Amino acid sequence: MNNIKSEKIYSEAVKYIPGGVNSPVRAFKSVGLNPIFIDKAHGSKIYDVDGNEYIDYICSWGPLILGHSNEDVLKGVEDALRKGTSYGVPTQIEVEVAKLIVQAYPSVEMVRMVNSGTEATMSALRVARAYTKRSKILKFEGCYHGHSDSLLVKSGSGALTYGVPTSPGVPEDVVKDTLVCPYNDLKSVEDIFKKQGSDIAAVILEPVAANMGVVAPKKEFLEGLRRITKEYGSILIFDEVITGFRLAFGGAQEYYNIEPDMTCFGKIIGGGLPVGAYGGKREIMNMVSPIGPVYQAGTLSGNPLAMYMGHRMLTILKNNREIYNDLEIKAEKLEKGIMDNLSKLGIAGTVNRVGSLVCMFLGEGPVDNYDDVKRCDVENFNIYFKELLQRGILVAPTQFEAMFLSTAHTDDDIEYTIKSNYEALKIAF
Ligand code: PLP
Repeated sequence: MNNIKSEKIYSEAVKYIPGGVNSPVRAFKSVGLNPIFIDKAHGSKIYDVDGNEYIDYICSWGPLILGHSNEDVLKGVEDALRKGTSYGVPTQIEVEVAKLIVQAYPSVEMVRMVNSGTEATMSALRVARAYTKRSKILKFEGCYHGHSDSLLVKSGSGALTYGVPTSPGVPEDVVKDTLVCPYNDLKSVEDIFKKQGSDIAAVILEPVAANMGVVAPKKEFLEGLRRITKEYGSILIFDEVITGFRLAFGGAQEYYNIEPDMTCFGKIIGGGLPVGAYGGKREIMNMVSPIGPVYQAGTLSGNPLAMYMGHRMLTILKNNREIYNDLEIKAEKLEKGIMDNLSKLGIAGTVNRVGSLVCMFLGEGPVDNYDDVKRCDVENFNIYFKELLQRGILVAPTQFEAMFLSTAHTDDDIEYTIKSNYEALKIAF
């Protein structure tokens, strides 16, 4: 594998951009490498500037459920572009995307578009706090909700990979109202509510934790959260930035049949362009300016191009629900293949999977929470990662992220991945 061009760009990049990247996990630092720089991507394949081809399981960290540069999603995008890139006054397509979301999520009666998942969760919390007239929020260890101050406590994703669960620059005062419980631990939530329940505005969680690898919720955990929040008048917020339109068209709430009070979206709903959204019951969303007193705004919110792409993406998913079953079958094949490899090689490890989110953990299972995740074997993972890359497979450069499957991944891709997984593990251990 030749990376002469990537290395050259990287040496320039570090002069102008911190770490040479615009988001920490892109740096490959955790696996002791410099990043590859991408030229283009189609379907399940991504190509770097040196012409190396990889089967891509990062898939932009979730938005590309239909694969890269999907022709159906892109159809008409040039015409949309030529009509103008941003107006700062409303468009019909924003209404159409909002309608698609509302129709797919019975718990969401109104929705507001923003530009990222970070904005979505940050804004949802503001609304929940205003609605309940309470300050405290409860989140879970290892769940990542973007990088806003009050949520950057015991986070997953890059914050877990780089060991900065609470970042410098986040004042203690800002996080004093952020309570944290272990994921899947209902008892600790019950205990905290007994003491502080009447001060807790909201409980926010990833209904499937997909930023500390993949950790499935126990059914009683989600049901218990719904019961407790109802009992204490707190808002239950599902952060479906990853799971929304991925686990099912109606997201994790459809998959597990639990209705939260508010939901945050991102990734898939922008069809690959920058978008986020938050929504919920009408009564709650009526708090938002200009009908209500809670201020939240955005120059590029509901951007016409992002809405165009999001609308195409959601329409394709809506009209082709068999996609979810197909993804399930592919992901299950990958899960079984990796499990078989681990057992054939006698390596302690497990594969967690929910729908098309897959994660191999190196270490003794089960992996049900952040403490379990932290016990995993990072050093051997790093060797494994490099070996996979050499074989033309790109997974997240860290143990603590999901593999994202798309409809573009072929059976051949999966088979080759399982074969390469075996070879890479054999070398790593
Ligand atoms: N919530 C979840 C569950 C996420 O996975 C992410 C990002 O990965 C975010 C929020 C933040 O979204 P963004 O990176 O678009 O700000």
